[in-house]
Amino acid sequence: MPDISHEFVCVGCADRSGPCREFETAQHWALGHSGRNPSHTTYRETIHRYWQTAMVD
Ligand SMILES: [Zn+2]
Repeated sequence: MPDISHEFVCVGCADRSGPCREFETAQHWALGHSGRNPSHTTYRETIHRYWQTAMVD
């Protein structure tokens, strides 16, 4: 089953970090993006967390 992943999307231009296994990696991308684009300061984070079901008697 895939691990949890984090992705940041810039609200200003829709550029995105891509899925990152570690939150800090996505956050680092956002900080760098704001550094290169000082007016882009708001992000939406999407977290993918997988679940698995199983039948019981
Ligand atoms: Zn942006």
